Amino acid sequence: MKIEDLIKSKVNSEVSDLRGWVSSIRDHGGLVFIELRDSSSKIQIVLDSENVDIDTFKSEYYISVNGTYIKRDKSMINKSQQFGEYEINAESYSIISKSKPLPFQIDDSIDTDENIRLKFRYLDLRRDDMKRNILARSNTFKSIRNSMDSLSFLELDTPTLTKSTPEGAKDFLVPSRKQSGSFYALPQSPQMYKQLFMISGFNKYYQIAKCYRDEDSRKDRQPEFTQLDLEILNGTPDEVRKTTEIIVNELLDNVFSIKVDVPFQDMTYKEAIENYGTDKPDLRITETIEDLTNIFKNTEINFIKSSLENSGFVKGFHTSTIMTRSEIDALDELVKDNGSNGLGWFKIENSTVSGPLSKITTDKENEELLKLGDGMLLFQSGNMEIYPVLDIIRRQIFTPVETYSFTWIYDFPYFEVENGEIQPSHHPFTSPKDTENFIEDPNNATALHYDLVLNGSELGSGSQRINSPDIQRKVLEMWGLSDDDIENRFGWFIEALSYGTPQHAGIALGIDRIIAVMLNVDSIRDVIPFPKTQSGLDPLTNAPTIIDENELEDYNLKYIEVADE
Ligand code: ASP
Repeated sequence: MKIEDLIKSKVNSEVSDLRGWVSSIRDHGGLVFIELRDSSSKIQIVLDSENVDIDTFKSEYYISVNGTYIKRDKSMINKSQQFGEYEINAESYSIISKSKPLPFQIDDSIDTDENIRLKFRYLDLRRDDMKRNILARSNTFKSIRNSMDSLSFLELDTPTLTKSTPEGAKDFLVPSRKQSGSFYALPQSPQMYKQLFMISGFNKYYQIAKCYRDEDSRKDRQPEFTQLDLEILNGTPDEVRKTTEIIVNELLDNVFSIKVDVPFQDMTYKEAIENYGTDKPDLRITETIEDLTNIFKNTEINFIKSSLENSGFVKGFHTSTIMTRSEIDALDELVKDNGSNGLGWFKIENSTVSGPLSKITTDKENEELLKLGDGMLLFQSGNMEIYPVLDIIRRQIFTPVETYSFTWIYDFPYFEVENGEIQPSHHPFTSPKDTENFIEDPNNATALHYDLVLNGSELGSGSQRINSPDIQRKVLEMWGLSDDDIENRFGWFIEALSYGTPQHAGIALGIDRIIAVMLNVDSIRDVIPFPKTQSGLDPLTNAPTIIDENELEDYNLKYIEVADE
């Protein structure tokens, strides 16, 4: 019998074979109190000390109890639990399965090292908080499947042993035993396959897909993650946006009982950068970046002067909260850790401007600063590189209101430069907004790419796709691929695009991330049943592991010594 079945039981009725784990034991001389936990509920069991050998009875033993379902004494009621008004007066019990001493207590209030939690994840998942998270995940899948079904999407699956599918990360490779020396790549996303479904004439595709990207794990990244991937034949960015809003709206309502307004707001990439310093703005904070260049146009402050001479600008925030010296120093540290030369600041208080730079401000500058009113002026001077720092300052000094703020970002530049190399800011299958302009001036072209952002986290990305083999080839050329590379890596796909490819558009939403943001947990690892650590390891199974030399031989592979650099 399960604890939740007691809902149907009458007080004072007999209970038999009630099963669960011993969550806690308290020996009160004469009586032993056990908190019994099963997959969804908890209830107190009371045993007569005479009937129980307390020394043979330990936490997390899985037991079966027979007894009577009774009301607790008024003073003993636990309002925080579903069955807190009741208990089981046990007549007998049996131990179904014993537990070794636990590596950590199964208790939400205990701070256990994450590596240990992951090593014993099956125990960690017995905790209430983790149960709640994983349940929300299961309900999320259910809500998505219901929405997709009512929107007439087909659930279609795609292979995971594939050729490389570029999404801006390195691939996980799988050696083939039969084709020795050759490797499959695990998909970074089902991107090209879902486009093939459009070429084949399936109207609306979706999949709850596993994606694999061999990149540095960060708080919100995992080498293996789950996304809702969808694609619409003859779809436009507008249709994808509307569809996504329906799915997200239903999900929030069904799983988290939260109603949000649709349509979501939107802004161009340029507006996002200029106002918030990032393409993932946290709109729970209403303050935006202010242009302060005018205040300093005739400045004698050297670093500002040289920025302005190099067509730079001064941007920042005025806040009415006066900061202490140690708060300023901490923020200065933070911006330096993020690539800035330091925090520019003035304190304005009682008609006086202070701060290290106040000694070199002109009378005119002082006058302008006083006009801002009491508070702090925090700023950066330079060019585009100051925006990410301004985003950090903004999120540090202003407090977000508690809400769910969605926004679409669109009109992204087609290419971006990362680590000195030009690459598509989405992926190379994204359609340019204006093909002619793309061919003439690709570095300044705009992409038909859109992102969905919630509370400063990117939930998803999508685009209208290229449906012309010539434009596809052109993009790959602009990306810097040689003709041979294009042929070897994408020849098959360009070929597929050459047989009457309809217009199509789609998106992918990070399911792990949506759940993590909605549950307000620290990391997506907390909403994935069996995640990897930050360094991509699985402490539970010890994967990845070194493979035995003999086994490698089957694949025609062997380890070689690499000299230390
Ligand atoms: N393939 C893209 C991704 O995984 C999503 C999309 O463009 O639909 O990010």
